[in-house]
Amino acid sequence: MHRLFNKLKNIFAIIIVIIIFASYFGVYIPLKNELEDSLHQGFKNMVSNAEITLENHLNRALEGAESLSSRTMIRRELEKYQAGEINYQELQEYTQPKYEDGAAIHKHLLAAYRFVDGRILANYGGDYLELLANNGFLESEADNLLVTADQRYIIVKSSILTDAGNRLGSDYIIYDLNAILSELRQLNPEEIDYNILRGEPVLNSGIKADKIIEIRELNNTDYFLQAETSASLIYDTIGRISYKIILVVLLTVLAIAFLVTKVLHNTSKNIVKNLRKELKEKTILSETDKMLGIYNRAKFNQELEREIDRVKRYKSKLSLIMIDIDYFKEFNDNYGHHVGDQILKKIVSIVEEKIRKHDILARYGGDEFMIICPETSLKDAEKLAQRLNEAIDYYNCSEDNNLSCSFGVAEYQDDEDDLMSLIKRADQALYQAKENGRNRVCRNIN
Ligand code: GH3
Ligand code: MG
Repeated sequence: MHRLFNKLKNIFAIIIVIIIFASYFGVYIPLKNELEDSLHQGFKNMVSNAEITLENHLNRALEGAESLSSRTMIRRELEKYQAGEINYQELQEYTQPKYEDGAAIHKHLLAAYRFVDGRILANYGGDYLELLANNGFLESEADNLLVTADQRYIIVKSSILTDAGNRLGSDYIIYDLNAILSELRQLNPEEIDYNILRGEPVLNSGIKADKIIEIRELNNTDYFLQAETSASLIYDTIGRISYKIILVVLLTVLAIAFLVTKVLHNTSKNIVKNLRKELKEKTILSETDKMLGIYNRAKFNQELEREIDRVKRYKSKLSLIMIDIDYFKEFNDNYGHHVGDQILKKIVSIVEEKIRKHDILARYGGDEFMIICPETSLKDAEKLAQRLNEAIDYYNCSEDNNLSCSFGVAEYQDDEDDLMSLIKRADQALYQAKENGRNRVCRNIN
């Protein structure tokens, strides 16, 4: 039973391990991958949003510069100066206020300079001449858009052209990239680092060890947007969800384990209980005479063996009484077997009533009985046999069937006797009682 229970426990442990593996590979891993993909997709969407916003800003910067350069009134005045119709001072006085008005309407515009003939004709905003010089702007011929490496400014150069396309001068406009990038950062709740870079991207889009990177080309420019955030954006969320999944799986497994153990325990307890009961019943059956309900010969042998061991160990006394019904065959023939059975039962009840609690009564054969009398001398056993003889005789007289028993008594002889020899000596005494006329007690004194 114990082995079966252990086997069941092992099977159950294997099932639990399978459940854990199945939950890990069949539920957790696919869920984690899906979550990773969807969180990554979320990040890409945020970057797309930022990309569109940034492209709008860059377009507006270019358009703003172009609109400033192409303002007709001040351009005409410049043409007049070029034609020698007005002098430089008149041109400057006319241009400066109008230029300021024109520049002021552009968002994120920090400063604007109009250069004509190598001189600043008009300007707006702070002092950024050094910035222009450092970035080589004042020397360059072509129209240009530049993002400073420190990610603080966008500089746009725009030519002032006559209707015929002749260059009259250039506008240099500085935009506040810092402000634009902080607007981008405020578009989403996650902390994303944006950089506008030029040339070949050093990094590729994807998830690196501790970073998620997204590279986007910016339309109409030779710049790209590099968005970067910590991988914890994905893995913190996965960690939180994993923790919950693991907790739920563990609790479920524990609950199942608890229930199954309880059921197994109760079932096995019941099985053991029933088996014990069955075993006890079978043992009693195998030791008992069915009709009379007293020990049978096998059990008698066992008990006598045990008593002999004890008497050897403690040097005490032990006697054996053998009983045989006189002329019982004849009785059966006269009254029938059924009445014979009743007599057997009656004799057993008389004997049981007379013997002590630790005396052991057994049926030895058909009409033969044995009484093991522990702690009893030959003399006392003989006295008990006498009392039994009288009681049976008394009963039989009252029942008027003239039935009696003969008794053979023997005492265990230290160091001489064993089971067989003690039985043999009791049997010899019984034989003597039969020989001497039956209905009496004889003792074996050897
Ligand atoms: P003796 O005085 O020499 O013992 O004569 P006896 O007739 O008793 O001879 P014996 O002991 O050899 O015979 C035993 C008889 O006991 C034989 C059988 O008819 C009877 N007997 C044995 N077992 C049972 C039983 O279970 N029920 C009944 N009714 N009779 C039994
Ligand atoms: Mg007999």
